[in-house]
Amino acid sequence: MAMGKDHCGVFGIVHPEAAELTYLGIFALQHRGQESAGIATSNGGRIMCHKAMGLVGNVFTDETINKLKNPNAIGHVRYSTTGSSAPINAQPLVAEYSQGELAIAHNGNIINAPLIRHHYEQQGHIFHTTSDTEVIFHMLADPEHIAVDDSLGHILGDLQGAFSLVFLTADKVIAARDPFGLRPLCIGEIDGHYCVASETCAFDVIGAKYVRDVEPGEIIQIDERGYKSRFFVTPEQRAEEGLKPAHCVFEHVYFADPASRVFGFNVHTTRYKMGQCLAKEHPADADVVISVPDSGRCAAMGYSDASGIKYVRGFVRSHYVGRTFIQPSQRLRDLSVKMKLNVIRPSVDAKRVVVVDDSIVRGTTTLGKMRALRAAGAKEIHLRISSPPVRWPCYFGVDFPTTKELIASERSVEEIRQFLEIDSLGYISAEGMLDCMDLPADHFCKACFTGQYPTPVDPQVGKFSQERRQLNLF
Ligand code: AMP
Repeated sequence: MAMGKDHCGVFGIVHPEAAELTYLGIFALQHRGQESAGIATSNGGRIMCHKAMGLVGNVFTDETINKLKNPNAIGHVRYSTTGSSAPINAQPLVAEYSQGELAIAHNGNIINAPLIRHHYEQQGHIFHTTSDTEVIFHMLADPEHIAVDDSLGHILGDLQGAFSLVFLTADKVIAARDPFGLRPLCIGEIDGHYCVASETCAFDVIGAKYVRDVEPGEIIQIDERGYKSRFFVTPEQRAEEGLKPAHCVFEHVYFADPASRVFGFNVHTTRYKMGQCLAKEHPADADVVISVPDSGRCAAMGYSDASGIKYVRGFVRSHYVGRTFIQPSQRLRDLSVKMKLNVIRPSVDAKRVVVVDDSIVRGTTTLGKMRALRAAGAKEIHLRISSPPVRWPCYFGVDFPTTKELIASERSVEEIRQFLEIDSLGYISAEGMLDCMDLPADHFCKACFTGQYPTPVDPQVGKFSQERRQLNLF
């Protein structure tokens, strides 16, 4: 089953121009996923859906959008991974069961999906995808669950892991967020109509106003009359269980658009503050500050301002290069990395250079960039990273490799510095990073840095060992 690789963007809206606005909405969320894109719409009857591998701009044409013209819509962009491209897993997923047609778009990762899938496979259910999301259909179609009052709320309570979900029925859009609020999801308003999106940058593009975030454990139902809220895990239940939010800190570090408001506060501002903090924690004697575009740009500006070292443009990034990993040989792969990122020689030649980036994961592309700077004449390279060392895999939807492949899992900072062939290396401290957020430190999931997961996970056995609450299913 495709697990742990679904860092995606979702969008949903009820509006007379829903199809067009959803197209623009997922276009704005393209940075959250480049593997596939899809839109499903409805108008009281059948659900129409168009989805395919590729970028939003390539997947849709005027003709396909015209065919989707309906007032209720959801959309999805899926994250590109180095594994197989599987058109079958493109979302929204659409299925029909005893209660009608339903489409689902999901951002996150359902940790206990293998367990649930196994349960239904034993009962003879047929699965059409290898996606963790599909179990939701089978749970909803289960006659035992249909009999329950709020069957959606009921089954969502049995899912473990990260889910920001958008559903489409014949006549409405429904959004739901896991009780930890791991991945973002927010509500917007346009012309008196409501929409939901992974990030507010989608609202900016369509001219919608940010209303608020979908709360952890909340279900939002949108139709032409407005929106209604209910909880499948209430704030009181969460307080009783001592359940704090566990927002993914990496959204602010790397994934989200700098213009977006994520978990209630602006991403660029956080990154800028992280750069300022880095300058205090890891000063450097240097002539210029450069960033690795685009991920390190905001933090590099903060570093420059706090240190007084001039910020210059050191790399040029091409936005037109596609996936680099399909290149057959190492030589071609190296060349395509250069196509993506080229050095502006006069910016770094004979200079002591501070380079700011947001994270080091495997360390391989970073090494390539450091060598390119050296080849362009950089006299000293001082790399500053605006997140602590990534030591643990993510089970909640960020595409981090296994522990073995993470460069920081078994290496000290000094060993990583040597591996990268640079003069100094400084990572922001966990405390420093969390101080830059506008929410208390214990409202975030920091598992990739600390190994402390908000909910029990077991990488060996089906991703899941011990339930936070008893599954009603089993
Ligand atoms: P590497 O040196 O190969 O570990 O690559 C580090 C670069 O990957 C940094 O510039 C990060 O911005 C970027 N990065 C961080 N997290 C991810 C992720 N989950 N998927 C893809 N790229 C990432």
